[in-house]
Amino acid sequence: MLERFLRYVRVDTQSRRDATGSPSTPGQLDLGRLLVDELAAIGVSGAGLDEHGYVTALLLADTPEPPTIGLIAHLDTSPDAPGAGVAPLVHRAYGGGVIELPAGGTRLDPASIPELAAKVGHDIVTSSGDTLLGADDKVGVAAIMTAVAHLVAHPELPRPQLAIAFTPDEEIGAGADLLDLAAFGASCAYTVDGSELGELQDETFSALEAIVRIKGVDVHPGFATGKLVSALRLAARVVAALPVDRAPETTAGREGFIHPIAMSGTPAAAEIRLILRDFDDSRLDEHRALLERTAHEIVDAEPRAALEIEVREQYRNMRTHLAAAPGVVEAAAEAIRAEGIEPVRTPIRGGTDGSRLSARGLPTPNLFTGGHEYHSVREWASLQDMAAAAATLVRLAGVWAAR
Ligand SMILES: [Zn+2]
Repeated sequence: MLERFLRYVRVDTQSRRDATGSPSTPGQLDLGRLLVDELAAIGVSGAGLDEHGYVTALLLADTPEPPTIGLIAHLDTSPDAPGAGVAPLVHRAYGGGVIELPAGGTRLDPASIPELAAKVGHDIVTSSGDTLLGADDKVGVAAIMTAVAHLVAHPELPRPQLAIAFTPDEEIGAGADLLDLAAFGASCAYTVDGSELGELQDETFSALEAIVRIKGVDVHPGFATGKLVSALRLAARVVAALPVDRAPETTAGREGFIHPIAMSGTPAAAEIRLILRDFDDSRLDEHRALLERTAHEIVDAEPRAALEIEVREQYRNMRTHLAAAPGVVEAAAEAIRAEGIEPVRTPIRGGTDGSRLSARGLPTPNLFTGGHEYHSVREWASLQDMAAAAATLVRLAGVWAAR
């Protein structure tokens, strides 16, 4: 599994926002081709990569009319930190201290990362400090590949029919859009895209993206007295006026937030990009109303400025869809327990491909991977927990074969 993982993270598969077409970047196709070749080498027939960057494969069962269960991980890595030139490091038998990485002055301090403090004795995989590791979600890819290889090598182990999908562009919210569910053929699926050992997640945020566009009046600064209206200053005031107690850094658990993620501008025109998140749809609407009210109060006070707010839906909480198919989550809990791990049921403060897939009619909860500190240069994973994720998938095959 480690060999697979280290091979996958070296392929730059960072996705890109505002790209047209799928996948958003060609590196995802490179990893897709590599996986198709590896699936063929393992002995899984009919693995393919489509023109949108989706890798799919089917591992057949030997029983007559088995259910088909989907296993899904995403190929791309986050656009929020450098993703090219990943040079992974393996820190064997972690002793419990600070891990100093060679590049970028990056340190992993167990005092501020309690999950790391609990991994004494584990083999810890990191980047070299100036890039992502890519554990999100290449641990998921490696876990599925390892589980499939194990099942092929052990035909005596029970399994249902397993439909495999590796999807592009999850990090830009497009990962599940073009997966052909009829061809995929699964009655339910699992994304392997979580974090801490034992996590089993059947709830995600509901998510909106907002783009606030402000137009000002630009004049040469030497002749600007009484004339110039700076869109950039107005945008900065809108960001500053958003409540600090409704931010990702000041909320936890089931609380939602309004999070500015990018701002650009000139005196003539400025743009703020924000993400709005909540588990509850009516509270999500309140966040949206608060943003709109705040922007209007500030920009409308200057009649020469113009304001436009575009809001677009990204994904919805998967809870209601999964509640209608309780056996799907129960089977995962049973598999995790069979591996000797206590399931940890936490809501995801984010989304997965499963949010979109569940809404499209394929119930898809999320399973742990053993990776942590996602979307940052401090990203790390425990090899022992990664192996437990792969083993849990083999157990899950057994649970479904027995139903
Ligand atoms: Zn992910």
